[in-house]
Amino acid sequence: MERRRFLQNIGATAVGFSLLKSSMAAQLSASAEAVGSVVVVGGGMAGTTVAKYLRFWGGTGVDVTLVEPNATYYSNIFSNMVLTGERTLSQLSYNYSTLKSKYGVKVQNYSVSSIDPVGKKVTLSNGVVLPYDRLVLAPGIDFEPLPSLTGTTANQAKIVHAWKAGAQTTSLQNQIKAMTSKDTFILTIPPAPYRCPPGPYERACVVADYLKRTKGGGKVVILDANPGIQAELQNFTTAFNETHKGIITYVPNAPIASINADTMTVKTSSGLSYTGKVINAIPSHKAGKLITDSGIGLANGLNGKWAGVNVLSYESTNLDLAGIHIIGDSSSTTQPKAGHIANAEAKVCADAIINTFKGGTINQVPITNSSCFTPITKTTASWLSVVYRYDPASKTMLPTGNGITESNGATSENYEDMLKWFNNLMADTFS
Ligand SMILES: Cc1cc2nc3c(=O)[nH]c(=O)nc-3n(C[C@H](O)[C@H](O)[C@H](O)COP(=O)(O)OP(=O)(O)OC[C@H]3O[C@@H](n4cnc5c(N)ncnc54)[C@H](O)[C@@H]3O)c2cc1C
Repeated sequence: MERRRFLQNIGATAVGFSLLKSSMAAQLSASAEAVGSVVVVGGGMAGTTVAKYLRFWGGTGVDVTLVEPNATYYSNIFSNMVLTGERTLSQLSYNYSTLKSKYGVKVQNYSVSSIDPVGKKVTLSNGVVLPYDRLVLAPGIDFEPLPSLTGTTANQAKIVHAWKAGAQTTSLQNQIKAMTSKDTFILTIPPAPYRCPPGPYERACVVADYLKRTKGGGKVVILDANPGIQAELQNFTTAFNETHKGIITYVPNAPIASINADTMTVKTSSGLSYTGKVINAIPSHKAGKLITDSGIGLANGLNGKWAGVNVLSYESTNLDLAGIHIIGDSSSTTQPKAGHIANAEAKVCADAIINTFKGGTINQVPITNSSCFTPITKTTASWLSVVYRYDPASKTMLPTGNGITESNGATSENYEDMLKWFNNLMADTFS
């Protein structure tokens, strides 16, 4: 019953994604043709989805150029399983060939270095200037420096976050592989908001499981800057206290004060000291550099670190930046920073832009959904799910119905559903 209700609620199946598609498409005015040009910056979960759906729903009158420096995108989702050898990075790699061949999106493998909101154009790292009618920014996240990181350069280089899948994921995987049953893995979690609220706790679980299975033991210490577990409270409490009892130690209210990479010691602001073989320090987050360093007032949300947006269209709340939309992790909304919600935000944004190009009205009751599956061991997973609806009074997206729900524990059935959910989400984004 629980599983059926979950699948019905989250739309995490192929059926769910297509239902979301058809309900959005139905909101489009059927008559007028959409005509206009859009530059999309960032080919991750949010940017790729919006580029695809602008063409899929908008038709050939919508000219779409995606600007992304990398030819290959490595999924962060499932990258914790690369750390424990259950996935390879190449199994998590995606490219833009279907976007080009099937949807006619133009792709420029450069980064955007500046934005001219008055002239409505962006300049790429190769000097090419692209004009736009609408600009969609989806550059993901960037990190603040770690507080007081000391030690030799070589030792400092060992302290990685692996919070953007790629070279650091491989580095951390190798460090974990070299651990023995006597070693400690220290994971530091930054203050919220950070990308993927359950992600760090998931990482602690899969590393603990790996150490137990392959090394016969080991320790995982979680130093959380937050006052408590940020997602799936019930499931992670069970995972820490029962499933991974004796391996995981969870320490709340433990922001980092300093890290000494020579002695491999982390000091927390309350003066506690932890030494480990591996330190996986995830720094505080902010919106992608393109937002925070733009110089045009994009970073106007939540301490000036994120982009404030109108969630009916994801257009900037800075009125001088009309026509610029920000989606995915860079935007500041009441929704989590996650790949599933980035995909959903992209569809709301695409729908709004297409309707604007048609001279129609924007949907006033957008609905988005987010779900997150969490491997707890090599064969079991748990999940959380939430559906958001626009609340006109607060002008924010608020959880509907039962709010944020989580599975009743971690099961192998959930693990199977997790694989299907991931394949559907990635297919809906990249193909
Ligand atoms: C370990 C881990 C596990 C996760 N698990 C889940 C999960 O189970 N479920 C879930 O929903 N989410 C999960 N997430 C979160 C998810 O990966 C992110 O929320 C999602 O990728 C955000 O999408 P985005 O498009 O905003 O950013 P990204 O996917 O990071 O894409 C940003 C893109 O912008 C490009 N870019 C940056 N600057 C420029 C520029 N100036 N010009 C051009 N391009 C630029 C980058 O190259 C990048 O390709 C996880 C994250 C991590 C780290």
